[in-house]
Amino acid sequence: LVSRLPRVGTTIFTTMSALATEHGAINLGQGFPDFDCDPALIECVERAMRANLNQYPPMAGLPALREAVAGKIARMHGRRYDPAGEITITAGGTQAILTAILAVVHPGDEVVVIEPVYDSYLPNIALAGGVAVRVPLRRADVGGRPSAPEAGAAADDAPAIDAPAAPAGATGFAIDWDALAAAITPRTRLVLINSPHNPTGASLDDADLDRLAALVRGTDILLLGDEVYEHMVFDGREHQSLARHDELAARSFVVSSFGKTFHVTGWKVGYCAAPPALTAEFRKVHQFNVFTVNTPMQAGLADYLRDPAPWRDLAGFYQRKRDRFRAGLAGSGFRLLPCSGTYFQCAEYAGVTAAPSGLSELDFCRWLTTEVGVAAIPLSSFYDEPTENGIVRFCFAKRDDTLDEAIRRLAAL
Ligand code: GLN
Repeated sequence: LVSRLPRVGTTIFTTMSALATEHGAINLGQGFPDFDCDPALIECVERAMRANLNQYPPMAGLPALREAVAGKIARMHGRRYDPAGEITITAGGTQAILTAILAVVHPGDEVVVIEPVYDSYLPNIALAGGVAVRVPLRRADVGGRPSAPEAGAAADDAPAIDAPAAPAGATGFAIDWDALAAAITPRTRLVLINSPHNPTGASLDDADLDRLAALVRGTDILLLGDEVYEHMVFDGREHQSLARHDELAARSFVVSSFGKTFHVTGWKVGYCAAPPALTAEFRKVHQFNVFTVNTPMQAGLADYLRDPAPWRDLAGFYQRKRDRFRAGLAGSGFRLLPCSGTYFQCAEYAGVTAAPSGLSELDFCRWLTTEVGVAAIPLSSFYDEPTENGIVRFCFAKRDDTLDEAIRRLAAL
């Protein structure tokens, strides 16, 4: 058997979650909340099941949910998508991304991705026969650094004699627009933009949308926006969706997910919004892949979305968790990178002197899981070729007591 994906093994998220379970470690690796969703959402789904909404829904998704998604995008971004021909309900963001890629990428087409890159994109492009063109994020002083670490350090006025000084924050990551421009060729079919960005927490601002528009103007390049962390943008920023910008929206698949927003990652329900011609191609693939997405979850979500903003203060909720985690690690050997979005905090570990020196990111994560009892994800798993930045990713979508126990274990390092 000749593998279609010879270099692909089990995902790092599955691997690290298994290691965490085996060693009873606190799992700050794979990104998922350890707290419950709103009970009202469960009741909505339960009502749908009891109302016998248990047979196939329409291929593109229940009209009520598509309508609710259209309303939500219109309220957030001022663009009204037509639920009938421009919105498709998917089995999570991951399926939407694969479907969009398979729908428009022909063998040999180039697809530009930003590296570090979420782990499903490159295999998705390979399955379509596309050629991935990787553009590295640049290390940059991205500003807007929250004050929590300094505050945390100041609270600890009289550190023990041998306690290391709190390291200052590390520089963050930002899109390198010159490198992105240089990566565009006549063969470029699609550019994937993930904002807020997993794993770095970087997010686009409105000037970035204009830069992107200038880059693709006059070409037939399509865009795919992975915006599953759209409601987790911090420090007063606004999420800059591709849907906000006329020129970009006209050539974009915009993907999001209810799993992240409503703390139900296991439900696997998301959506793709795109202009009619793109949606038509998207649905050709969708109907012969999953065909459609389970009915009661869709009905329950539609019901729940009658509340105009059921995510309420999700950004504030996660910002407080981010700040709690950052403050807790302020005096440790970790150097925290800025985090303007997502529920991930990246940290440099060179200053963690308790660890054997010279560990790769993967080995550091293994050591941290087995010896310290906290699982994390190596940044290297978001690169196509071996790349070591000395950075690991922690997920802070956890109960405060979980975070506090993780902090207790990590702060001493
Ligand atoms: N998106 C999640 C993360 O980055 C993981 C999803 C998965 O395990 N496939 O941690």
